[in-house]
Order: sequence, then structure tokens, then C-alpha cells
Amino acid sequence: MSNIVNDLVEGYIRNTLQDKSGLLRDLEVYAEENNVPIVHKEVSDLLKVLLKVQKPKRILEVGCAIGYSSILFASTLGEDVEIITVERNEKMIEKAKENIKLAGFEKNITILEGDAEELLNGVSGEFDMIFLDAAKGQYQLFYDMVIDKLKIDGLLISDNILYKGMVAHDDFVIRRKKTIVKRMRNYLDYICKCDYLDTSLIPIGDGVALSYKKEERGDINA
Ligand code: SAH
Ligand code: MG
Repeated sequence: MSNIVNDLVEGYIRNTLQDKSGLLRDLEVYAEENNVPIVHKEVSDLLKVLLKVQKPKRILEVGCAIGYSSILFASTLGEDVEIITVERNEKMIEKAKENIKLAGFEKNITILEGDAEELLNGVSGEFDMIFLDAAKGQYQLFYDMVIDKLKIDGLLISDNILYKGMVAHDDFVIRRKKTIVKRMRNYLDYICKCDYLDTSLIPIGDGVALSYKKEERGDINA
């Protein structure tokens, strides 16, 4: 269980939602067995609904892992979508490439190999949706590099924002995670108070933030 939601409630939701089939199901099993932190089931259902409503044509993802979420996006949206996803772990990259090929989405999904800190500034074009799902202590940094690439009316989704509940309350914080937790709290404060975004923090999975971009950020960083 994810630690942030009452176990009974989460158990009920998980038993009720529809299980995936085919490759996505196989990837869930692989992720579970190999401790790969893919999106929680409730979050993947939320993402699917958001994708169907927003119909993004270009998506930027930070944190590809084995390609589960990218393949989920592509299979939800179909052939028109272009997904650029960043990953620095070589083993993950290898697995992701295999999986993307198996899924038949080589044309839709491009993996940028390396550290997002170094690669994100070089990503060109605009995006309808940006999914932050990588090192939790670096969200503000990633944000600063990508927010101008998000179109107005675009959606920024940040995953794992409650980090096993630690972000919500000091009682849950383990010592060596203190800095990450502090950084995540600062990031959430920022995206919630930022006047060019409308943000909603949602306590499902490991916590997910949805931020709708209303206008360009001013010349804050200019
Ligand atoms: N989005 C995936 C899960 C991503 S798990 C899914 O739901 O299916 C987070 C991944 O981010 C890990 O594979 C990790 O290697 C990668 N990562 C973390 N920090 C990164 C960084 N700074 N640059 C690139 N990749 C990073
Ligand atoms: Mg995640």
C-alpha cells in the first residue's frame, strides 16, 4: 500500500478498478518483482481520463524507467501522439527500449538518454502535457527548465508529491529523506501559490499534483 491513503479505502479502490491486460499488465508484474517505481494503478487511471479529455499531441516526461507510463500514454492516445521521455539509468533505458518496441510505439516515443538536469534545456518545441516523475528533490529545478515549454492551457503533472506521506507530516519523515522532503514542500508551495497556474494536490497513489497553465510566467527569471 502507498502509506498515504487509508489501507481499507485504497484496497477497495484497487479491487474495484479495472485491471490492465496485455503488455501493460506484464510490465506491472515486472515492476513489482523488480522494485521499479511505476505510477500507481489509481494514478494511471486518473492519467488516462485526463489524456482522453485533454488529447495532448506532444508530451514531455521526466523519468521513463521501463517505459510503463509512456506506453500507457501512447496506448491511450493512439498514433498521433509524440512523447519525449528522459531517463539516466542505463538498465532502465535498455528495458524501456525493449518494451516500447514490443508495444509498437517506436515512432511515437523517443528516449533522451542522460540526466534531465543536463538534457531538459536542449529539448525543443512546445508541449501540451509535461509529466514530472523523477528525482523528487529536483522537481523545482526540472520545473524551471520545462515550464516555458508548456503551452498555455497545458497540463503539468507531478507524481510522488506526498512521498509516502513524509511530505504531509514530520512524524513520517525518515532522517535521510529530510532534504528531499523539504525541497518537495517548497516546490508544492510554489506551484500552489504561483499566479499563472491553477494547481490541485490529490492524495491518491503516492500523491499527484495537477497544474493547469493559465498564462506565461512573467519575467521572473529573465
Ligand atoms: N514514469 C515511470 C516511472 C519513473 S521512476 C512510470 O510511471 O512508468 C523514476 C525514474 O526517473 C527512474 O528510472 C530514475 O532512473 C529516473 N531519474 C531520476 N532522476 C533522474 C534525472 N535527474 N534524470 C534522468 N532520469 C532520472
Ligand atoms: Mg512516480
